[in-house]
Amino acid sequence: MGLSLRTWVATLGWGVDGHYAVCKIAQSYFEEKTLVAVKKILPAYANGELAAVCSWPDEIKRRPEWSWTYALHFVNTPDNECNYEYSRDCHNDKCVTGAIFNYTSQLMFQFHYNLTEALMFVSHFMGDIHQPLHEGFVGDQGGNKIKLNWYEQETNLHRVWDNKIIESAQEKYYNSSLSVMIHSLQHKLKYAWSNDVPSWESCPPHESACPNPYASESIDLACKYAYKDAAPGTTLGDDYFLSRLPIVEKRIAQGGIRLAATLNRIFSPKPSLAAA
Ligand SMILES: [Zn+2]
Repeated sequence: MGLSLRTWVATLGWGVDGHYAVCKIAQSYFEEKTLVAVKKILPAYANGELAAVCSWPDEIKRRPEWSWTYALHFVNTPDNECNYEYSRDCHNDKCVTGAIFNYTSQLMFQFHYNLTEALMFVSHFMGDIHQPLHEGFVGDQGGNKIKLNWYEQETNLHRVWDNKIIESAQEKYYNSSLSVMIHSLQHKLKYAWSNDVPSWESCPPHESACPNPYASESIDLACKYAYKDAAPGTTLGDDYFLSRLPIVEKRIAQGGIRLAATLNRIFSPKPSLAAA
């Protein structure tokens, strides 16, 4: 990945590195037909790499013409509600789960849609939905209003989960290299997590996307881990970092696996028994 990617500013959603990792992992799980279809849809400047465009929705969301997409990056629950309900929380379908349903169906049916944008949105939102504080409480805007310190730096809780845990992990364990971190996650997927992967991929029959359970998992993790011991004004350090890093790593890996599984269901559908 080029240096320029790292200089992009991401204020919501996994930071640039988190989104890059989700999409890089996903592409390594694409079936052949999926890879062909994705490469055809990607813009030329991506050079066949989905990961190169996975932060695009964060780059555009503050421009006036795209401001309607801002609400698609998250879904918040009422304060202190540690569960998610589509009908209660996803107002007028304008939230991250609604957006995943919408853009996956655009990719399925293909008529009249900008497939390049649909692919970049799905790939980005599949990352966002796995960041626990993208399913946080309305009142604190998913942790954005909780000002605290990450070691010596002033920041907010949302940013800790978007960027800080990932950055500190790279420095401490991965030779300050995102690709070393991604390789480590791919290794864990092949070994430590291999028995879990089939359940992460699964979706009810005849459905290509099933984001609702991912949002439920996120708010559960937000309550149990993200908000816990992170009141405004706290200084978060080793205790918080070391206990939350495994969660961040697993969520990035799950995001990648589920993005691949979703795109495989769309572009490499298995023949149904009735059609065989
Ligand atoms: Zn986002």
